[in-house]
Amino acid sequence: MDYKSIPKIELHAHLNGSLSNKNILELHQLKYQGSDQGINADAYKVQKELPDLTQCFAKFKYAHELTDVPERLGRACENVIRDFQEDNVVYLELRTTPRATEHMSRETYLATVCEAIRKCEKTCPGILVKLIPSIDRSKGVQVAEENVELTRKIREKYPDLIVGIDLSGNPENTDFRDFRKALQAARDCGLKLALHCAETAGSVSENLEMLEFGMDRMGHGTFMDESLETWKMLLEKRIPVECCVRSNLKCGSVSSAENHHIRKLLEAQHPVAICTDDSGVFDTSLSSEIELCAKTFKLSRDAIEEITLSTIDQSFASPSEKSRLKTLVHDFYRK
Ligand code: 5GP
Repeated sequence: MDYKSIPKIELHAHLNGSLSNKNILELHQLKYQGSDQGINADAYKVQKELPDLTQCFAKFKYAHELTDVPERLGRACENVIRDFQEDNVVYLELRTTPRATEHMSRETYLATVCEAIRKCEKTCPGILVKLIPSIDRSKGVQVAEENVELTRKIREKYPDLIVGIDLSGNPENTDFRDFRKALQAARDCGLKLALHCAETAGSVSENLEMLEFGMDRMGHGTFMDESLETWKMLLEKRIPVECCVRSNLKCGSVSSAENHHIRKLLEAQHPVAICTDDSGVFDTSLSSEIELCAKTFKLSRDAIEEITLSTIDQSFASPSEKSRLKTLVHDFYRK
C-alpha cells in the first residue's frame, strides 16, 4: 500500500515540534542573515530513545528560538502546513502555545498564526486547517487563564478557524485541578477540549479527575490502563484517544510499537486517531505513522479507511466539513 497517497487526517500536531530539517534551515538562515553557522537540526531531533519526557521538552527550545518574531513564526506555520499537504494530509488541526517573546506579545503570536493559516487557504488549497491554541501546564495558572481569554477574543475574528483548546506542556510538578477553571471557561465559550492525559506513570488520581472533568479528545492516554478504574471509565465515556506511536517510543514511555496502548484500544473498538505529535522532533510523518500501525497491528486497507472515517468524526470540523472529508475518503477507497 502506498501510505503517502491515502487522504489523511491529522488531529494532534504541535507547530514548533513539526518543523522539518528544511524548515529549520530556512528559519535559521532568515534569523542569521543567510548564515548556516551554528545550525544544528540534530539538536532539535530525538535521534534515539530518550530516558524521559522532560528531556523531550528541552528539544522545543531550539525551535522556539527560531520562531521568536512574527515573520519567522508565520513562515514556520506556512511551511508546516505545506509539509502536511505534501504528505497528503487533507485535514489538519494544528496546535500551538501563544508565547510572548522579546519581539511579540502572546496576542501577536496568536494573530500571526491565524493569518498564516488564512494565507494557506489560497496557497495550500488541498488541506483544511483548524487551530487549537495550547495551554502549557509548566507556565502556570494565570497564563493559562489569560490564554483562554485571548483565544476567546481572537476567535471573534476567526470563528471558523479556532476550534478548541489543548492542555499540554510538561506535566511534572503541576496539578490538573489548578487548570480546571481555565478549561471550564474555554468549554463555556464553545471551545472543544483536547487534553494531554496520562503521559507518565503514577498519575492515576489525576487521570481520574481528568476523566471526571471530561474532554472531547485525549492526547496520548499512555498510562490509562495503569488502573482498571481509569481504563473502564475511558472506554465507557468513549473519549477518542490521539495516539502518537513514534513520539511515545522516542520519549521512552512505551517499550515497543507492539506494546503501544493503541493495540488494546483497537481491540476494544475504541475510537483512536493516529497522529504525529511532533513530526520534526520525532522525525516522522503521518504516512509513516499509519504505515507503522498498519504493519505492527496488521491493519487491512478497510481497517485504515475505518480509522480515517472515525478520525473525521472525532475532529472539531463542522458537520458540512466532516461530510465533505468523508466523501473524499470514501471516493479514494472506491477508486
Ligand atoms: P508549540 O506549542 O510551541 O507550537 O509546540 C511545542 C510545545 O508543545 C512544547 O513546548 C510543549 O509544551 C508541547 N508539546 C509538544 N509535544 C508534547 C507532548 O508529547 N506532550 C506534552 N505534554 N506537550 C507537548
